[in-house]
Amino acid sequence: MKQNPKIIYNREEMCDLNIKALKSRGVEIADIAAIAYKQQSKYTPTISYDRCVESVLRLLTYRDIFHYIQLGIEIDRLAEVKAFREPIQSIIEQDLGLFGCDETIGLDIARNYGTIGQTNFGDIDVNKVGIVRDLNEQGKTPGHVHTFLDDIVGALAAAASTRVAQMHNEDIALEGDNQVDIFELAKSHGRTKKI
Ligand code: MG
Repeated sequence: MKQNPKIIYNREEMCDLNIKALKSRGVEIADIAAIAYKQQSKYTPTISYDRCVESVLRLLTYRDIFHYIQLGIEIDRLAEVKAFREPIQSIIEQDLGLFGCDETIGLDIARNYGTIGQTNFGDIDVNKVGIVRDLNEQGKTPGHVHTFLDDIVGALAAAASTRVAQMHNEDIALEGDNQVDIFELAKSHGRTKKI
């Protein structure tokens, strides 16, 4: 009996499939982490590049993001082989400025890290640095479509950059006298069971 293809993956598998899919389109984890680092180190010079890499990898394990990456890359690939019908084939292939569905996906990925995540995505989307700029330029050459991928990569960088900023703030908050043990605090609010 023919088995249905697998559709549910665990986080490690999703991360692995995402790394492979991004690589197949010329994007390395280091390229995304580099944009996150460049963006966030402007505000906080002491952040570590390794945290940017770790943040990108963590994002790649989230199911919603997995679906967006797999879908966006597949749309670009299908547009490259002209598999869509008109008018959407040319709209995607030529990356129409007012199309916007690609930015919607980018914004939704960045939304995982709130308003700051979204404004950071806007910054990368407008200023196009690093691999986002390369994808954008290559997408204008014949046979290449990166309409969805440039936004997905920009959004991953923005989300990672924002996560690193939040981790840095948590580090500051835990310094000195501000340390709070939430489990001890919860006891004073009537918590009796381990949560
Ligand atoms: Mg785009």
